[in-house]
Amino acid sequence: MNQDLQKIDRFEVTRILGKGAQSVVYLAYDPKLQREVAIKTLHFTKQKDQQNEIQALIQESRTVSKMRHPNLVPIFEAGEYEGDPYLVFEYVEGKTLSDLLREKGALSANEAIGIIAPVLDAVAHAHQNGIIHRDLKPSNILISPEGIPRVMDFGIAERISDKPGEHDDVLIGTPAYMAPEYIDGRIISEKNDIFAAGLILYEMVVGHKAVQGSNIYQIMHRIASEPIELPPSGEISIDEKLGDIILKALAKNPLDRYASAEEMGDALHSFMLAGEETAPPSAESKQSTLDFLLRRMRHRGDFPALSESVSSINRVVSSDRESINKLSNSILKDFALTNKILRLVNTAFYSTYGGGTISTISRAVIILGFDAVRNIAVTLILFEHMQNKAHATHLKEEFIQTLFSGLIAKDIAKGASKDIKDPEEAFICSMFHNLGRLLAMFYFQEEAESINRVMAQKECNEDIASAQVLGISYQDLGIGIAKTWGFPEQIVHSMRKLPPDSIPRPKTAMDRLRIITSFSNELCAIVAHTPSEDRLKSIKKLSGRYGDSMPIQEKQLQQTLEKALDEITQFAGTVRLGVRESRIGKQAANWTGHTHQVEVAGASEHAAEGTELTEAEAQMQDTVAITATEGVTLAQGKLPEGMGNKPDAGNAQAILTAGIQDISNSLVDGCSLNDLLRMILETMYRSMDFQRVLLCIKDAKQNAMVGRFGFGEDINQIVKTFKFPLSYTPDVFHAALSKGVDILISDINEPKIKDRIPDWYRKTITAQTFVLFPLNIKNVPVALIYADKEAAGGINMPENELSLLRTLRNQALLAIKQTL
Ligand code: ADP
Ligand code: MG
Repeated sequence: MNQDLQKIDRFEVTRILGKGAQSVVYLAYDPKLQREVAIKTLHFTKQKDQQNEIQALIQESRTVSKMRHPNLVPIFEAGEYEGDPYLVFEYVEGKTLSDLLREKGALSANEAIGIIAPVLDAVAHAHQNGIIHRDLKPSNILISPEGIPRVMDFGIAERISDKPGEHDDVLIGTPAYMAPEYIDGRIISEKNDIFAAGLILYEMVVGHKAVQGSNIYQIMHRIASEPIELPPSGEISIDEKLGDIILKALAKNPLDRYASAEEMGDALHSFMLAGEETAPPSAESKQSTLDFLLRRMRHRGDFPALSESVSSINRVVSSDRESINKLSNSILKDFALTNKILRLVNTAFYSTYGGGTISTISRAVIILGFDAVRNIAVTLILFEHMQNKAHATHLKEEFIQTLFSGLIAKDIAKGASKDIKDPEEAFICSMFHNLGRLLAMFYFQEEAESINRVMAQKECNEDIASAQVLGISYQDLGIGIAKTWGFPEQIVHSMRKLPPDSIPRPKTAMDRLRIITSFSNELCAIVAHTPSEDRLKSIKKLSGRYGDSMPIQEKQLQQTLEKALDEITQFAGTVRLGVRESRIGKQAANWTGHTHQVEVAGASEHAAEGTELTEAEAQMQDTVAITATEGVTLAQGKLPEGMGNKPDAGNAQAILTAGIQDISNSLVDGCSLNDLLRMILETMYRSMDFQRVLLCIKDAKQNAMVGRFGFGEDINQIVKTFKFPLSYTPDVFHAALSKGVDILISDINEPKIKDRIPDWYRKTITAQTFVLFPLNIKNVPVALIYADKEAAGGINMPENELSLLRTLRNQALLAIKQTL
């Protein structure tokens, strides 16, 4: 290894974190993103031919980048420095499980399960992605200072083969953790990982390796042919049931093992729960209960997707230019979500921001702000997933109530102290305040029902009942999930319930947010559940409890409620909820209408419940009727005809036309060049359903066209390497630039064209078809728009659409000229 190594590309190497068989892992600092990272390199020796190792490292980066799981170490990027490839991972502080075992010896059953259950969860995730780890062992499991295990090192991972019996020529892996069928027959399957998990669990509870020997051949021989037994009970006492679980995972015959990593995880959890009936839950078991519940949710089809969408949006933290691109990118990946957001931002609900028609996410960010768009996106994602499941009415009810409380919180925040920078924040905190209960209702219906029963029988509150039934309270469940989803601290903070007695004045902005959040949620619960004769009393009590810690007067409440009712119709139109039929919708309409009467006529609180439609209800009925007809048009916010569907011949044009209109307005408004270019690219991307769209700009210093930003598949990676010199070479890129003509390559491997596709392109991108729109000023190229699809022949541009795309290109040119 190179002793003087101080930098790997932009990364400043601090020290060595660990060495594996082929690689060295360094701790390094990334000055650009200002964070510590772990960089995995080959040994940086050039003595022998390293092709295999290089291939393996590159393969590892692809494998890991496919997966996202809280118990897997994520990869940030991959690169090459002085000819050597390297991978950049999240740096996990702490130690490996093998260090931990060396220090502590055997662990308690609880501790051991607390580690292996999440590991199995991560392994199950890998298996679902078609990946077998193949090298699970204590030194490949990092334990964070909080005790959370993270699986790493996919250096020899394998794709699950559709040809069973696939095998290696030579043995690869770590002998002491190899499965018998691999040693005997080189058979690779998910069962190898289950066997390894069994060995690790054994090692944790017993305190030494399951199979030992004086050399690797002896060890392998023993694994393959000698039965594995637990140490005699005089030596160490292992619960019989836990022992059975370990031995089942370690069965010689793969068919006798657990069928899947989930199954083994579930067995472990049932074991834990059985034990808990006697012992009070510790912080440790709370964590493992949470893990268990998360695992159960992940089994439910859409939960992983929900987690992934929410987390990926939460990962985008700041509102700088790069993040705006990232945010738009995560949203644009989901076509339905994009449409819903655009529909929503075009409703009157947001028109106070002075929107007009907004036809791109990029423009929505400019007009409504980064946080607002992010919050809308996360909220809609949650709604979308839940709504698909909300067959039962009471789930819909819950849902609408949640939205209602979000809107109320937002209104209160708007009128309140300047300390809460953004009412959007109050909205989202309030929306997610009851996340635990909401998810439990959707994913654990039976338990949620038992919780209701317990509450009724024992007259206890929800948190006590849920802790009893689920092993963890709704609140802790929600907080745990919010954390794994990467929600910011203020949202998590707002999920904590306030004391039941009087509420102290808030000292910080975060506390104020928490109070508004709780208040609006409690208010909504009252509106939804309190019979009309008790309403006034309940509201009085609520106001009294919050006192002057709440920035709103009792008499303003009605106004706030009315406004929320108004807004919810806007919002609900977009997500197509039947607000009008909902309990809270009826109650609120009734209440606001009712109190109105109280004020005007001083009528009694007991006046007849609204049998006639109140104005608000009538209005809601309108909206519902409109949205029922496909929801393309909303009461106030209109999207051009056809924009609500997946692009096809008809609505590609609609998207293009709307985008062009939008951009023309923005050109006049004097939007910044970057914002304009982003809108232009986004419009191209969405309208034609391209795999990706990318903008290159001429870099005079390097005399090259250099990738700047784009949308679509792996775009952040690709932008970095998309670059070619401007000095003329006879390829299609220069053909487009030098003549200023648009070029469509239908198939990069067509005999006539294949020699004109430059090498750098083939190395950067696998797409087989692409189109180039050069941007020339006075015959001099200044920029280039590139757009592709994966499969040859995939791009079809009828004359109409092509000419609209050209208009967009010309708008880009105009925007650039304006800044010259
Ligand atoms: P190999 O494939 O060579 O075994 P690993 O990926 O297992 O490489 O890494 C080797 C060692 O480097 C690990 O045992 C661990 O000590 C350390 N290490 C690896 N990745 C990280 C990381 N992301 N954070 C902290 N330490 C790490
Ligand atoms: Mg390793």
